[in-house]
Formats: sequence, structure tokens, C-alpha cells
Amino acid sequence: MEQAGSGEGKAEKDGPVHVLTASPSAVGPAWGRLVEKLADAGFTVHKLWEQADADTFFANDGDQIKAVVPGHEGVNGEMMDRLPNLEIIANFGVGYDAIDVNAAKDRGIRVTNTPDVLSDDVADLALALMLDVSRRLTLADRYVREGKWEEGNFPIQRKVSGKKVGILGLGRIGQAIASRASAFHMKVAYHGRHEKSGVPYEYHSSLVDLAKACDFLVIACPGGASTRHLVNKEVLEALGPKGCLVNIARGSVVVESELVKALAEGRLGSAGLDVFEDEPRVPEELRKMDNVVLQPHIGSATFETREDMADLVVRNLTAHFSGKELPTPVA
Ligand code: NAP
Repeated sequence: MEQAGSGEGKAEKDGPVHVLTASPSAVGPAWGRLVEKLADAGFTVHKLWEQADADTFFANDGDQIKAVVPGHEGVNGEMMDRLPNLEIIANFGVGYDAIDVNAAKDRGIRVTNTPDVLSDDVADLALALMLDVSRRLTLADRYVREGKWEEGNFPIQRKVSGKKVGILGLGRIGQAIASRASAFHMKVAYHGRHEKSGVPYEYHSSLVDLAKACDFLVIACPGGASTRHLVNKEVLEALGPKGCLVNIARGSVVVESELVKALAEGRLGSAGLDVFEDEPRVPEELRKMDNVVLQPHIGSATFETREDMADLVVRNLTAHFSGKELPTPVA
């Protein structure tokens, strides 16, 4: 069994606290630092992705595990049942749509996430996508590299500054996007379930009306059942042939097949996408489109932010196992 940490826990009361890090996409520097920080805090870390056989691990060691740190794959009720002494799920991310929070509540398992520390990065990426898609920066880079500049100038593109951006979900990330867009002298409007008090942006109670009124529609709401397929054919039609859809939230919010059709048929102008319905699989049609910029779900993927996220995961776990209030609980 792969483990990290001395087991001489600083955080635990009755012997080492066993933590399962459960992301299949976990191999990489960010998760490596998270595992180091967990070990430094005194936790015994089991890396699920390194187990030869997950079923054997759950059967032999499942009862030792008191905490799980998942990534995008989340934790369902079945996995909770295989970890009978699980007390807390400390998500390595702000979006916890892949964690069955009701199943956790039913079992008395706490859930935490990593809000705020990543908002700047994700908002930066939203602006980068708006700029890239509108000015075709990725395409222009290829144009230079492929020697095409010597054959003629790159086609003229569309301006970003001064345009109107609609934000679906004016939460922490949505507001960080709004303040950046304001610095570009853009008009900002938003849609959510409720009008927010104390924000200077125009509220639209209808998402279709917001899409009609905007040049860019940026999705910044959570994933999950309540937002599934909010951005449908009607919304895309409303955004229109000059409109641009930017999604840095979750692929599940968009009807991806309708997005592909709208782009292919010119009913939607362009798109900048960090997230997809069936990651890491991205529709072949999208990959071929020049009016689309594609990113491999990297909204929070900077060294600085992943350090902060890892610290927050550790702070939540340490607080829980010391009987203190959780810094960022969701359940
Ligand atoms: P947040 O502060 O909770 O904001 C979410 C906003 O969405 C809230 O303002 C909420 O407003 C709105 N909302 C919730 N349900 C809605 C619904 N059914 N219809 C319309 N609006 C709805 O969350 P955050 O920290 O900004 O994060 C937002 C999401 O970004 C995360 O959940 C995650 O999925 C995604 N994310 C992606 C990346 C990436 O790598 N691309 C990184 C981090 C986060 P109301 O309650 O007023 O409706």
C-alpha cells in the first residue's frame, strides 16, 4: 500500500488519521504538493490512483479511512459506504457538484471546499478566453509560427473593450470577472436565481433576455442538477451570430450538442471553453473550429493557487480532527 507521512499526526486525537486522496487525475505537481502538505500536517495519506486494485484497497483498508480528498471525480454514496468510518470529504476545488452532499449529510459526513482562493485565476482565464476568442490570439500565433504572415496580413478581428458581458452566476468568480470586465470599460449584466443587493450591475431575471442583450455570455454558476443544460438552444440563439459563449464553470451547464450545431451553422459567433460535458473528451467538431478556443479545465491551475487550495484542504482537515470549526464547510 502506498503511503506518505510519518503517521505521527499533529492533528489527530487517537492515532494517525488516514486520508484517501482519490483523484484519477491526481498525478502532477499540484497533487504532489497536496500530499506533501497532508503528510507534513501529520496525516497518513493513501493514494487511490496508485493502488493496484481499488476494490482490494476498499476491502482491506476502507475502515481506516476517516477523510477523503477528491478532485473532479467527487465521491458518491457507494464510495461512502465502502469507507464506514469516513468523517469528512475535503474537496480540492470550489465546485462540489460531483460530491453527493445529501448522501454525506445522511451519513453524518462533513463536506468542505476551497472557495475564494481560486477566484482570481478563474476570472483571469475568463478574460483571457474573451480576449483570445475575439482577437483570435491562438490562431494568430499559429499564423506566425506557420510562416503565413509572409504571405499576407492576418484578418481583422473583433474588439473586446467597451462591449457588453452577461454573467450567468454572479458569485465569487462571477464578481471577479465583472470587476475585470469593468476595467476593460465593458458593460456588465448578470442572471442568477436572485437579484443581488449592493452590486452595480444590471440584473436580468431571464437568461434568454440576458443573452439577447450581451456580446459575451460568461458562465460562472455551479454545476449539478439545478443548472444542468441552462444554456440551451434558445439561449444560444439569443446570443446570436456575433455573440461569444465563455464557459469556465462546468460543461453540464451547456447542451454541448446544441453548442456544436449553433457554432457550425453560424447561429453562434464563437466560444471559449475550459470545461466540457464529458471531460477529458472534447467533441471532434469543436476541435476543428477556428472560432473556438479550447482549454483542458485549467481555471485554477497555477502553482500559487494550487498551493493556497492545498493549504485550505489541510486547514479544513486539521480543524475537523482537532474539534474546531471548519473554515469552509459546505455541509
Ligand atoms: P459561488 O460564489 O457559489 O457563485 C455561484 C453563483 O451562481 C451564485 O452567485 C449563484 O447566485 C449562482 N447560481 C447558483 N445556482 C444557480 C442557478 N440555478 N441558476 C443561476 N445562477 C445560479 O461559486 P464560485 O466560487 O463563484 O464558483 C462558481 C463555479 O465555478 C464553481 O461551482 C465551479 O463549478 C466553477 N469553477 C470552475 C473552475 C475551473 O477550473 N474552470 C475553477 C473553480 C470553479 P444565486 O444564488 O443568486 O442564483
